[in-house]
Amino acid sequence: MLKGLKRSAKGARVPHEKATAGMATVKMPVPQHVVIPMQMHIGAPAQPVVKKGDTVMVGTLIGQAGGFISADIHSSVSGTVLDVAPMRMVNGTVCKAVAIKADGHQTLDPACTPPVVTDKDSLLVAIRACGLVGLGGAGFPTAVKLAANTIDTLVINAAECEPYLTTDTREMLECSDTILSGIDAVMKYCDIPNCIIGIERNKPECIDLMFSLTRDMPGVSVKPLPMRYPQGAEKTLIETCTGREVPQTAPNGKGGIPADCGCVVMNVTSVSTLGKYLKTGIPLVTKRITVDGDAIAKPGNLEAPIGALYRDVIEACGGIKPDVELGKIIFGGPMMGGAAPSADFPVLKQNNGLLLLSRKAAALPEAEPCIRCGRCIQACPMGLEPVVIAENFKNRDFDALQARCIDLCVACGSCTYVCPAKRPVSQTMALAKAWYLKEKNGKAGK
Ligand code: SF4
Ligand code: SF4
Repeated sequence: MLKGLKRSAKGARVPHEKATAGMATVKMPVPQHVVIPMQMHIGAPAQPVVKKGDTVMVGTLIGQAGGFISADIHSSVSGTVLDVAPMRMVNGTVCKAVAIKADGHQTLDPACTPPVVTDKDSLLVAIRACGLVGLGGAGFPTAVKLAANTIDTLVINAAECEPYLTTDTREMLECSDTILSGIDAVMKYCDIPNCIIGIERNKPECIDLMFSLTRDMPGVSVKPLPMRYPQGAEKTLIETCTGREVPQTAPNGKGGIPADCGCVVMNVTSVSTLGKYLKTGIPLVTKRITVDGDAIAKPGNLEAPIGALYRDVIEACGGIKPDVELGKIIFGGPMMGGAAPSADFPVLKQNNGLLLLSRKAAALPEAEPCIRCGRCIQACPMGLEPVVIAENFKNRDFDALQARCIDLCVACGSCTYVCPAKRPVSQTMALAKAWYLKEKNGKAGK
C-alpha cells in the first residue's frame, strides 16, 4: 500500500503537551462504588460469576473469559456486589456490568498468589488468570497474541505518541524492574530470542534508563523512534523497529497480523503488569491514567481502581476549575480517544487518559470544502487515500472501498489533524470502514 515514503516518515507532527510527564503516580482514594463492565477487551464478553449480595475482595474473579479471544475480569475493591446488569458503555455498546459497593478496606483475596510458571503453556495460563489485555488502548487479550509459534521478535511499544498521555512514561520511570522481568519471562518461556523496546525521542530520560538497564540483557535493544505521530501504531512500530512489513494478507487469506512477519507487540505497561503478576499474583485491577486538560484543577497521573467512575477520578484531581466551563470529556488521548457524554462512565483496563477540556478548547472549527491538497494522503501511515475514499463512501461503492483497502484504517486521526480545511476526515474514514465491514460480513453471510 505504501508508495514512496516509509510508514515512520508519514503521520503528523503533533504537539506533545506532555505536561504531566514529571508527575509521579498518585493512588486515588477508594471510591464508594465501582462499575466493572464485562467487555473491556476485543473478543467475547466475560461471563459474570458473581451475583447481587456476594462478598468480593480485591482480585476476586467476577467475570470469566467468554471464549478463546476474551479475558477474565477481577474485582478492584473489596465489598459487596450491588447489582449485575446490562449497561451502556461510553462507546455506545451494551454489555453486562458488575456494580460493587466498596467497604474501604481493600482486603486482598487470599487466592491471589504468584503463579507457578515453568514453560510457555503455564505462562499463557498465568496471563489468562491475570486478565491481561493490551493496555495501550487496543484491549486485545495478551495470551492470544503470545500463543503464535512463529515469533522471533518481541517489540515493546513504549512510543506513547499521543499528545497529553504520560502513563507509559511513568511506568518506565517508576516500574522498570517489572518491565524487565516481564520481558525476561516472555522471551524465556515463549522462546523469543530478540526484543526491541521502541521509545519516541521526546522521552530522553526513559531512553537513557532503558539503555542502561538492558545493556547486559542478551537479545534486548532500545530503539529511539522519530517524533512523528503515530509511531505507536502497531504496523508503523514494527517497520521502524525491525524493517519488516506486516503483510496485508496472511497465508490463510485473512488480514495480516504481526506474527506473519515474526513479531509480537506488547505495550510497555502490559509487559510490566505481567511482571507484577508473576511476582505478586495480583491480577489486573488498577490502571494508571493521565488526567489533564485546561479544565481540571490538578492534572496528574492517577492509579485508579478499574471501574472507578470518571466523576470520582475528576474529584480526586481537585475537580473542574471553578472559573472554567467544562466543554468536553475525552477518554484516551486527543487523537484516538472519544468524547464521553457524561462523567458517569467507568475507567476500563485499556483506558490511559481522561482529558477535561474547557468549552473554548473543545470548540471545533467550521469545516470548509476540500481543496484537494492531498495532505491527508501524505500523512496516512497506512498509505491510504482518505480524500478518494470519502468519495467512494459517498457513492457507497463497495468494490472501490475494497480496492482502496479501507479496512487498513487504524483510526489514528492524522488525516483530520493535517487537513487545512478542517474536515472531519478520520470520522468519515471510520464511517466508511464500518459500512464496508458490515457489507462484507453481509456478503459472507455472517
Ligand atoms: S485515520 Fe485512517 S485514513 Fe486517516 S490517517 Fe489514520 S489510518 Fe489513515
Ligand atoms: S487534507 Fe483535507 S483539504 Fe486536503 S485533500 Fe485531504 S480532505 Fe481535502
